[in-house]
Amino acid sequence: MVEKACRQCGRIIEEGNECPVCKTKDLTTTFKGILVIFDPEGSEIAVISGKSVPGKYAVKVVR
Ligand SMILES: [Zn+2]
Repeated sequence: MVEKACRQCGRIIEEGNECPVCKTKDLTTTFKGILVIFDPEGSEIAVISGKSVPGKYAVKVVR
């Protein structure tokens, strides 16, 4: 299936139609780049991008 990204937080959703982080169905298939966060507390990228949940995120979501 086509990967979708949450418009709110950029989370990549591979299954289902709801973002597991913010529980929204506001998803888009239009996004650029993928950012993978393994350790939100030890990752500068996670801190800078404001992510607190490990997983895959879109670098840029078209809103
Ligand atoms: Zn989200």
